[in-house]
Amino acid sequence: MPSYAFFHNQFVPLSEARIGVMTQAFHYGTGVFEGIRGNWNSEQKQTYLFRLEEHYDRLLNGCRLLKISLPHTTSELCQLTIELVARCKFQEDIYVRPLAYKSTESLGVRLHGLDDDFLAFVIPWGPYLDVDKAKVGVSSWRRPDDNVIPPQVKLTGLYVNNALAKTEAIENGYDEAVMLTPDGHVSEGTGENIFLVTGGRLVTPASYNNILMGITRDTVIKLAQNELGIEVIERQIDRGELYTAEECFFTGTAAHITPVAEIDHRKIGDGEIGKITGSLQEIYSRVIRGKHPKYLDWGTPVYKK
Ligand code: PMP
Repeated sequence: MPSYAFFHNQFVPLSEARIGVMTQAFHYGTGVFEGIRGNWNSEQKQTYLFRLEEHYDRLLNGCRLLKISLPHTTSELCQLTIELVARCKFQEDIYVRPLAYKSTESLGVRLHGLDDDFLAFVIPWGPYLDVDKAKVGVSSWRRPDDNVIPPQVKLTGLYVNNALAKTEAIENGYDEAVMLTPDGHVSEGTGENIFLVTGGRLVTPASYNNILMGITRDTVIKLAQNELGIEVIERQIDRGELYTAEECFFTGTAAHITPVAEIDHRKIGDGEIGKITGSLQEIYSRVIRGKHPKYLDWGTPVYKK
């Protein structure tokens, strides 16, 4: 099925959305992107965009950082995304990739004095880490400090760090990497936040551990507290704590909740999907498909009935 893009302020077939070789962002990573899930509900024949506004609020924060001024508000960006996804008519899980970037076709490292543009496109996309449970390796690549490149928004240039760590992990036989902060504490995966279960409580790195403050992370924190009555602690985590955790899982828009079976060849728990992880996966999968009455506000239906 053909897909569409929002490009140069109009809807065009995806194959016609092309940028020039001198585009400034292509050379210097001066863009900010988002990843938004549309989750297919086959009974209702409906696609639910998950926490759409929060994704665009985060994108606009990234625009402030990169001095990108867009002519759109969060609510306009949400509206055009709904229209874009509806045009594509996919009947499966999809992924929306919005990107705001320095679009001037001229060279020179800077943020100022350049034109900005916004585009978005849609692709069908199933599970990101295509395994029931992941084998993970601690990366030799550290997550940059906030004063190197701020990690709390999705800056395109920053993802060179993630790509180095991901490929190192795959070449070493793992499914994913976990990166440490410059001072050696647990930070995050290359496209996911990380949670541990220790002493029956959920523990996850805090905002000061150079992480992206994930929207799935926030979702899981709320579901654990409200639906399972589990305490969640955001704090600095030592590397050694990874190996002794009772359970471990990743969270991310693309990866959903992915259980971690082993880290650096050490089994987590018994190496199977943990009880708390499994319960969270079950609740989360209903929430994102508009099947949980308490959390319908988080889903934006695409198709008008
Ligand atoms: N950390 C990084 C580095 C990511 O790229 C992502 C994916 N956006 C996440 C965490 C998870 O964030 P979210 O749940 O908002 O997708």
